[in-house]
Amino acid sequence: MSSGVGARPAKLHLRGGRIVTMNARRDVIQADMTITDGVITAIGPDLPIPAGATLIDASRMTLIPGLVQIHIHLCQTLFRGLADDLLLLDWLKQRLWPLEGAHDGDSLATSANLGLAELIRGGTTTIVDMATVHHTERVFQAIADSGMRAISGKCMMDVGDGVPETLMETTESSLAESIKLLDAWDGFDQGRIRYAFTPRFAVSCTDGLMRQVAKIAAERGTYVHTHASENLDEIALVERERGMRNVVYFESIGMTGPHLILAHCVWLDAEEMAILARTGTRVAHCPSSNLKLGSGIAPVPEMLAKGISVSFGADGAPCNNNLDGFQEMRLASLIQKPVHGPTAMPAALTFELATLGGARAIGQDDRIGSLEVGKRADVVIIDLTGLHTAPATETNVYSQLVYAARSTDVRVTIVDGRILFQDGKVQTIDEAAVLADVPKALARVLQRSGVDEIPLGMASPVAIT
Ligand SMILES: [Zn+2]
Repeated sequence: MSSGVGARPAKLHLRGGRIVTMNARRDVIQADMTITDGVITAIGPDLPIPAGATLIDASRMTLIPGLVQIHIHLCQTLFRGLADDLLLLDWLKQRLWPLEGAHDGDSLATSANLGLAELIRGGTTTIVDMATVHHTERVFQAIADSGMRAISGKCMMDVGDGVPETLMETTESSLAESIKLLDAWDGFDQGRIRYAFTPRFAVSCTDGLMRQVAKIAAERGTYVHTHASENLDEIALVERERGMRNVVYFESIGMTGPHLILAHCVWLDAEEMAILARTGTRVAHCPSSNLKLGSGIAPVPEMLAKGISVSFGADGAPCNNNLDGFQEMRLASLIQKPVHGPTAMPAALTFELATLGGARAIGQDDRIGSLEVGKRADVVIIDLTGLHTAPATETNVYSQLVYAARSTDVRVTIVDGRILFQDGKVQTIDEAAVLADVPKALARVLQRSGVDEIPLGMASPVAIT
């Protein structure tokens, strides 16, 4: 593996700007910021510019902690728009699994770079990713080179109806490959990259594999990232095969706890909610994906009221179809209001879940999630002076950020003190080269996959009368 992204400026000075600190007092202040070797070393008015510092003029801009998205599939970005308007299990069996299984290392790298560039442009600075079954080292290398902060892991699948041969592995090989990747990548670049065991979901993993994952993850202190209770058909399958519901099953094999991240949790019963609350298990809420796949509306206000950790994720491009953290915030708030009334999911709370809450969910709130002296510098500079965000008042910054801002308002993205996006360009990824690779990579994958390349809506037109 290469050493990843290039050197960071030793000193970075952000001059001026309104800083949304997300510190304990939730201060929003007009100040300068100095970053030294990737760490925020000073915040205050009229700070001296350190000698030799790289200077960014942030006056008239707003500085926020970078967005943390705890459920992403970089491996699927290449399949945006190729799996629309399908039921979850059909979406997986007819489209996603054959496509993922047809990836080669280069197409996977292209998919990851496409996703990373979109995320970096949109102000996301940390992701929890689920890679596919094979070639996962290419996803890690793309993350390393991009400068993104990430937890990722190879997808694990050793059983399941409709799983193509290209994704099916033995229990032993799935574990062996996961441990090899864990040893190679966990802690890379001073902990910027971490490994998570990533069984896809209970339906595609044997009980033996799940139990081994729970055991090894506990021994190694490693996160586990999987899907649960997204859809009623999936829950019925798990109940038939394991004799219990998802969260009860995870509890029974010793997998629940603060190191377990469960994507979706749309359909939970009272017992499952109680387990999540008691064990500190993390929930990744994916509102766009839940809406597009018709899964339902996750009971987020109820989960929060019970003290359950909830943060957000865009999921994959084929079920969203963007990786836009600002859209996820806006939707996460809006979709609860018809159910719970307009006071549910207020802007300040929603912004917290997308930043500090996400950092807390992955056990990194001592390093990231707020803009405070001593924290790693994951900083997004956003322009809230546009027509669609005016007016700015003394008190409406969270409203601007959650309800009005767009990912295209981001001007600069900094992760670990490195400038990843500036002057309209992702600095660490050759975006033009990635875009040029996309059709070639997709053509290879489609040819191997056997998936009809005509989008479903085009293949079976419905006459409008
Ligand atoms: Zn997912």
